[in-house]
Amino acid sequence: MNILFMGPPGAGKGTQAERIVEQFAVPHISTGDAFRLAMKQGTPMGLKAKEYVDQGLLVPDEITNGIVRDRLLQDDCSKGFLLDGFPRTLQQAEALDGMLADMGRSLDHVINLKVDRGLLLARLTGRRICKSCGSTYHILNNPPKQEGICDKCGGELYQRSDDNEEKVGTRLDEYISKTAPLLSYYEGKSLLREVDGEQDIDVVTAEIVSVLRGSN
Ligand code: ADP
Ligand code: AMP
Repeated sequence: MNILFMGPPGAGKGTQAERIVEQFAVPHISTGDAFRLAMKQGTPMGLKAKEYVDQGLLVPDEITNGIVRDRLLQDDCSKGFLLDGFPRTLQQAEALDGMLADMGRSLDHVINLKVDRGLLLARLTGRRICKSCGSTYHILNNPPKQEGICDKCGGELYQRSDDNEEKVGTRLDEYISKTAPLLSYYEGKSLLREVDGEQDIDVVTAEIVSVLRGSN
């Protein structure tokens, strides 16, 4: 199953992806995670991406498209994939269509997690992530049992350097001007399904599962 999650930063894409990939046994492809890993490793691509990520701006399409193309060609994607955070521009969406067409594949589901902009700042500034396994928490909405420690693996939790008020403002502006127009692109292809991302995390998961199973 070839799945795409859309929605603004903080909508819950990563949180839901963690759960959906377990149930549907497909790999989770997050371009944000790929950039953070390359930045940590200090690769040439990571150093280039850092110039944009640190400002809350989108990384140029040619860098981003190359990462996704390489990843989709890996063996574990042959059964399907869950894309999270890509595409974020019309050019990326068209590039994705081209990559999938070259592989004789296409998207099965595009799910948009809808969350009002007013909720996103608190979600993003309260987000904490495990350094070891990447699990996502929120200090108020979804806290770990022990402060600063991952429930799943005991790893240390950290706050992303772009999850502060200033960067979040830029990231949301980037979303509105460059990514939100993609919703009509996928609506035009009759692929788009909306899920209310303001509900409880478990309720959101259940609704996504029923869309993916075709039972609603
Ligand atoms: P995205 O991947 O879309 O940027 P995340 O999944 O990282 O978003 O979620 C952003 C923050 O909001 C995290 O701290 C997460 O724990 C919290 N969160 C996610 N879904 C919900 C929800 N349905 N209700 C409340 N908080 C949520
Ligand atoms: P995310 O983890 O999805 O919130 O992404 C973190 C940052 O990585 C974004 O603010 C962008 O700088 C960069 N990024 C992630 N995905 C993309 C993409 N598809 N296109 C351009 N930049 C991206």
